[in-house]
Amino acid sequence: MKEFDYIVVGGGSGGIASANRAGMYGAKVLLIEGNKIGGTCVNVGCVPKKVMWQASSMLEMIERDAPSYGVQADIEKFDFKELVARREKYIDFLHGAYYRGLDSNHVERIEGYATFKSDHVISVNGEEYTAPNVLIATGGRPSQMTIPGGEFAIDSNGFFELTEQPKDVVVLGAGYIAAELSGVLQGMGTQVHWAFRHSRPLRTFDKMLADNLVEIYRENKMKLYDHHVAKEIRQNADGTYSVYFENGNVLTGDQVLFAGGRLPNTDKLGLENTSVTLNEKGFVIVDKYQNTTSEGVYAVGDVIGKIDLTPVAIAAGRRLSERVFNGKSEEFLDYENVPTVIFTHPTIATIGLSEADAVERYGKEQIKIYRSRFTPMYFALSDYRQKCEMKLVCLGEEEKIIGLHAIGVGVDEMLQGFAVAIKMGATKKDFDDTVAIHPTGSEEFVTMR
Ligand code: FAD
Ligand code: NDP
Repeated sequence: MKEFDYIVVGGGSGGIASANRAGMYGAKVLLIEGNKIGGTCVNVGCVPKKVMWQASSMLEMIERDAPSYGVQADIEKFDFKELVARREKYIDFLHGAYYRGLDSNHVERIEGYATFKSDHVISVNGEEYTAPNVLIATGGRPSQMTIPGGEFAIDSNGFFELTEQPKDVVVLGAGYIAAELSGVLQGMGTQVHWAFRHSRPLRTFDKMLADNLVEIYRENKMKLYDHHVAKEIRQNADGTYSVYFENGNVLTGDQVLFAGGRLPNTDKLGLENTSVTLNEKGFVIVDKYQNTTSEGVYAVGDVIGKIDLTPVAIAAGRRLSERVFNGKSEEFLDYENVPTVIFTHPTIATIGLSEADAVERYGKEQIKIYRSRFTPMYFALSDYRQKCEMKLVCLGEEEKIIGLHAIGVGVDEMLQGFAVAIKMGATKKDFDDTVAIHPTGSEEFVTMR
């Protein structure tokens, strides 16, 4: 049986980052990947999504916004197929970059699906491998609709397989992916019908964000339907699909896209042969050091079901390798105050507690809210006056900033710097003491009263 210092199962964001960092410190590392190198983010997540978001934003800019600056540019052609082909070529290029990175850190690679024979023995393609340290970084996959006809709905993986732009789409779901892909498609000229189960989408975020998003999407001709619980999907004779809802409504499109959360890739791993414990939803249970319940077996990324973001998986994977292979025995990832952007149209940027969560945790009298709602200068010359809204959630007398939320043009690129300040414990006074940059949108964050 071939022996290694470190076996990493899963070559996605977390696995690659951890393998490379361990390799840098001279560990003998084996990385096992069953599908395409780069995992969800590179192949069917962040990267292709951002390409599609950029294309969609470009079309919106040319069609909706440019005329207000005296620029009249008729779009002769938007070639969805070509966009997809160029996107996939870029992803192929990234695969090469990942291979080169792994090679430069002397990480050995095997293509194939791994299963655990015991805590430290891994089988792949009929061979067995062992190491004192093993990482589970197998990520997740889209959950499927369980209603009759649920199989007619495509998921985010199916979206990235499309080579024809749909004319009408019914989007079901209420989180990141439903919000992002609805915006991408509507911006490209598809008629989107976005149906969600409750009064608003993005319910886990500050309410202000969804309120603005719904308003802006409606202004941009998207059809939104609240309190819509799907009960059946049927295929029609003309090849379209109809979604039947419990309230009697029926929506039809040439595609139905379902994005209702993700499931962990733990079911086919042979974990029953180990002492690794899963929670009731199948995610791997870890402590703050990413240790599972089996000594020397760790888990990072989406497979632990904590915060499903690429930089989180990367940071956890790297810190783990610093701890195990570089003697930094206290290194771990702090999962508090993780900034995140939702690539809607316009974008949403958020870090820390929502107003409702802050009030629930600390009581209303401890929380002070600052808000600003304005029309960004980008729309100054336009009849279309899309709003940007920002909010600071402050705690106690010193007004420590414990939440920062924004929706509007450019807020995606504003957040990273403010996240540093918040991570350092910034107060409202620190923001007030910072001189504004004019004319920008971000200056609103340091001039709120
Ligand atoms: P993954 O990247 O999923 O990697 C796991 C890998 O393990 C996969 O390659 C899989 O093939 C492999 N694997 C599974 N089982 C086995 C096995 N038994 N043997 C060998 N290999 C195995 N995050 C952001 O931060 N920003 C974004 O903009 C963003 N956009 C997203 C858009 C979409 C549509 C989706 C679905 C996700 C998006 N995410 C985004 C989330 C991000 O992609 C994930 O959080 C991230 O990829 C998780 O990394 P991971 O290493 O945990 O898992
Ligand atoms: P999310 O967890 O973001 O949202 C899923 C939501 O869909 C649920 O909260 C629920 O909301 C709704 N839902 C669940 N089941 C059903 C159902 N049967 N019918 C209708 N609606 C349903 O999941 P996503 O799939 O959107 O994304 C997965 C994760 O990937 C995200 O949480 C995020 O961490 C990551 N991601 C990150 C991105 C980024 O960083 N920009 C982009 C894309 C994904 P409700 O209860 O209100 O109905």
